[in-house]
Amino acid sequence: MAQQKRDYYEILGVAKNASEDDIKKAYRVLAKKYHPDMNPDDASAAEKFKEASEAYAVLSDPEKRRQYDQFGHAAFEGGGGPGGFGGFDFSGADFTDIFGDLFGDFFGGGRSRASRNGPQRGANLRASVRITFEEAVFGTEKEIELTLKDPCKKCNGTGAKPGTSTETCSKCGGKGQVVFTQQSFFGTVRNVQTCPDCNGTGKVIKEKCPDCLGTGYIAGRKKISVTIPSGIDNGQSVRIRDKGEPGFNGGPRGDLLVEVIVSNHPQFVRQDYNIFSEVPVSYAVATLGGSVIIDTVDGKVIYDVKAGTRTDTRVRLKGKGVPTLRDKNIRGDHYVTLVVDVPEKLSKEAKDLLRQFDELTGDTLHAAERLEKGHDPDKDGKGKKKKLFGK
Ligand SMILES: [Zn+2]
Ligand SMILES: [Zn+2]
Repeated sequence: MAQQKRDYYEILGVAKNASEDDIKKAYRVLAKKYHPDMNPDDASAAEKFKEASEAYAVLSDPEKRRQYDQFGHAAFEGGGGPGGFGGFDFSGADFTDIFGDLFGDFFGGGRSRASRNGPQRGANLRASVRITFEEAVFGTEKEIELTLKDPCKKCNGTGAKPGTSTETCSKCGGKGQVVFTQQSFFGTVRNVQTCPDCNGTGKVIKEKCPDCLGTGYIAGRKKISVTIPSGIDNGQSVRIRDKGEPGFNGGPRGDLLVEVIVSNHPQFVRQDYNIFSEVPVSYAVATLGGSVIIDTVDGKVIYDVKAGTRTDTRVRLKGKGVPTLRDKNIRGDHYVTLVVDVPEKLSKEAKDLLRQFDELTGDTLHAAERLEKGHDPDKDGKGKKKKLFGK
């Protein structure tokens, strides 16, 4: 369901303990192979190039690599602003030596590098929704409301006032990037930067659209229905494709990730796909055997308790647990703890009968008295019991 980010070491095809040199070599090979200049109009190559560049940006930086080793992709989530690769923050990554080298060798130093004004995917949005225990078990449909940006209808997302058009940026000539050269010990290094005048779009707006004030987007409250699958657990998220931030330059929208918060149930406790609960059983039923009524997520179930059931006996109701996310026909179990109930209030008649019952079954109510009179219950054993009959 969720699109998993690939492991950076795997992307570069290096071992977890690879040296900085190995990482650089591996990236150089991939960068040459998938560079957009070498693969014009090949979206999958561009994607691979970005992926490898992101992996390299992290693994070539000792501090970032340490964070990644410790926390995985989570180390860099949430920090990136728009313009990065899917929200990834590239600031601080140094590609100068790699690209200076690459283009010096292979492109005669005159070509621009990865185009920053190509399509960029929008950032993901996050939201949360609260559901009941039963809704988590059987799935539900929820509507959430959130602020969503949509391309401005007035200007079709260009940001330019209708009737006017965007103009090619004069600073970068529409490339979205500016190249500057730097003299270094090893020779001339060509560096490429996002054009500061047009922010990499290659276009500048002369007259701003009055509706969106030149941003190209209108933010509004939107109702979005969320299909929550049966078996979802507290803290898990549902991904809704293309309901995140709009993309840039024709790139796809990001996704909306809706975290599910499950309310506690008064009776049921869930652990993975199993449900746990307690059911009181009267002394009579526990002793003689009989039926108890057990609440399950499917409704009431009659369970036959065996004679002589001790308190805290756990029984399993197979398949009465939570459906698995993978297959809703495969369900966990419901474990019920049978707790023998001790009555707190009894009528005089019931108390008298219980005393009578006790006399018949060991006279436990008078054990202390008998000990005081010199009768050791351990030595008296069962014979003592018999003598007490009919007293
Ligand atoms: Zn520009
Ligand atoms: Zn507009």
